[in-house]
Amino acid sequence: MSTRIPTRNKTGFSEMEQLRQEMVKLLDEAKTHSKKGKVVDYIPELKRMDPHLLGITVVSTGGKEITAGDVQVRFTLQSISKVFALTLAIMDRGMDEVFRHVGMEPSAEPFDSLPPSLFLPLDRPEFRELAKPANPMINSGAIVVSSLIKGRTAQEKLERLLRLVRVISGNPTIRVNEHVYASEKKASERNWAIAYLLREQGFLKENVEEVLDLYFMQCAIEASCRDLAYMATCLANGGTVWGLSKPVIPREIVRVLTALMVTCGMYNASGEFAARVGIPAKSGVSGAIMAFVPGKYGVGIIGPAIDKKGNSVAGTHLLASCVNRWGWSLF
Ligand code: GLU
Repeated sequence: MSTRIPTRNKTGFSEMEQLRQEMVKLLDEAKTHSKKGKVVDYIPELKRMDPHLLGITVVSTGGKEITAGDVQVRFTLQSISKVFALTLAIMDRGMDEVFRHVGMEPSAEPFDSLPPSLFLPLDRPEFRELAKPANPMINSGAIVVSSLIKGRTAQEKLERLLRLVRVISGNPTIRVNEHVYASEKKASERNWAIAYLLREQGFLKENVEEVLDLYFMQCAIEASCRDLAYMATCLANGGTVWGLSKPVIPREIVRVLTALMVTCGMYNASGEFAARVGIPAKSGVSGAIMAFVPGKYGVGIIGPAIDKKGNSVAGTHLLASCVNRWGWSLF
């Protein structure tokens, strides 16, 4: 079978329906893997998520949709928001300025590790370069990136980010889940430690409270698999959204996002994910995954049981099955 997601043909026989049924089978099989993971527990409000949920939406760049599983569930973007915060920061400040503050290198450390600056003699310039956060997809890098988004207040910056996310998802009702935001703000000592360290060492110029307020709100942006799949389709489409003539995200930025999602998007499992699955993807500790096949499809997945590195176990399994079944790998 081709990788195209076909439309209904003239006889009324639905190839699309066949494809959906295949997807349901892959999903049922992947679901059995959810018991190998656990729902994230350091953000109290997220502990309520059902570990056995699994849902997927695929949208083609031509606008055809296919869904299977628990797609009605709403979840927070968590780390997936880092992709769009980075987009906005680059649109605001330009590539050079953003990457003066944060690196482009994959990290072998967990997503919430303290910046390496803790252990380096920062008075020597050659060490300062090494000491900046490794990339924008881990927390230290993402906190620095959020501080570069333009706006007078955290709320104003958030509104600009929400506007971008609403346009690329085609959903004007997307908003922040206030409970998840408040819950993380209160409980996430690790992110406070990271931010204060960055600030003390001169990597973060803004006020810590303001920056973390924005960071926690962006992580708590709520979406569905369908929203996520449409966001991914915009990336698959080179930054263009159906019905709009000009790209929403400049192609040059999409190119950088794609590279960073491939090399850093699945935290310190990105190398293995590239080898075993092989498409640009970004995960969040809510168990969501946003992935895309350049020029073809955007994918949104939710599967709240995550592994030790923070990636959805069943979701990753399902994505790998789709990639293998329909030959989506880039490599
Ligand atoms: N809000 C989460 C945190 O900062 C995001 C992490 C993630 O999804 O990987 O810890």
